[in-house]
Amino acid sequence: ETLNKILDIKGTIRVFCRVRPFLWTDKRRTPEPVLSELDRVVVRSSGSRKEFGFDKVFHQEANQEDVFVEVEPILRSALDGHNVCVFSYGQTGTGKTYTMDGTTDQPGIVPRALKELFQQVTSDKSSSYTFSMSMLEVYLGNLRDLLASKPASRAYETAAKCNLNIQTDPKGSVEIEGLTQVEIPDFAKARWWYAKGRRARSTSWTNVNEASSRSHCLIRIVISRRGDTPDAKPKVSKLWMVDLGGSERLLKTGATGQTLDEGRAINLSLSALGDVIAALRRKRGHVPYRNSKLTQILKDSLGVGSKVLMLVHISPCHDDLEETICSLSFAKRAK
Ligand code: ADP
Ligand code: MG
Repeated sequence: ETLNKILDIKGTIRVFCRVRPFLWTDKRRTPEPVLSELDRVVVRSSGSRKEFGFDKVFHQEANQEDVFVEVEPILRSALDGHNVCVFSYGQTGTGKTYTMDGTTDQPGIVPRALKELFQQVTSDKSSSYTFSMSMLEVYLGNLRDLLASKPASRAYETAAKCNLNIQTDPKGSVEIEGLTQVEIPDFAKARWWYAKGRRARSTSWTNVNEASSRSHCLIRIVISRRGDTPDAKPKVSKLWMVDLGGSERLLKTGATGQTLDEGRAINLSLSALGDVIAALRRKRGHVPYRNSKLTQILKDSLGVGSKVLMLVHISPCHDDLEETICSLSFAKRAK
């Protein structure tokens, strides 16, 4: 039993890397410092050469479809009853949101996943599925419901729906008290709620990019599957898709006041997440879930029996090398 659990964990954490293409705003120099191969990234800077291994690497020209093809199997595990977490990690500006949300022409993992779920279940005649969706933002350790009919304002400290409690039931299942959970009967409705959640996220901030760099955005799909036997309890699993806050170390950039607090909060929760994944990797008994709201929320979806996919994003530029190496090192701990 224990051995099986250990073997299971080993196969459940996948780490992919995606290298963003050059943008017209990037300063380019040759030779380029970041070289991507099938399963590794090589970084060259001032004479030194570092290599980082991955389960899969997406080079600069890889498109959204190329990425989704590799993510799809993990969605199927969610339908099979596993809890699943897909994370988008990296420095601000490296393409985390591009990968998760994408654009109208180039949809990312979330819209593709929503579509795929409904496609998969119409082909499975032996079970009946229901899906529901929640969206929340974690900012300075507070939780904000993005699908509430009147989302809390940016004033997290005073707003009503921004300090939701995290509860764990005796079976270890995590629930967030009072979090809005909407039924999604079809893809059109799912897309509608998803758009609403994204709007709620951005309108409370003066600048959208600011929002995504200093808060985490989490989407949860609860999947409930009923088999042939009508009185059997439905099997419930959770699929989390998480656009993490920017991993850059704000302390070094001379940030002060609020910005510094936000940066610290993000850095703390990202290192807490790294610690949890590293502990799961090492197969040690104690997994430090309690160190951040992020890991508390995801506790039942990060352990035994669940599947984790970390998508680490890096920039191809010389100017970002230091952060690139930090992100690659984070990934190495998770691998
Ligand atoms: P982050 O969420 O990590 O801060 P964004 O997703 O906002 O980064 O990406 C920063 C910019 O780079 C955006 O203009 C985005 O459209 C562009 N970008 C990122 N990744 C890609 C990609 N793979 N292909 C094309 N454009 C990309
Ligand atoms: Mg973003």
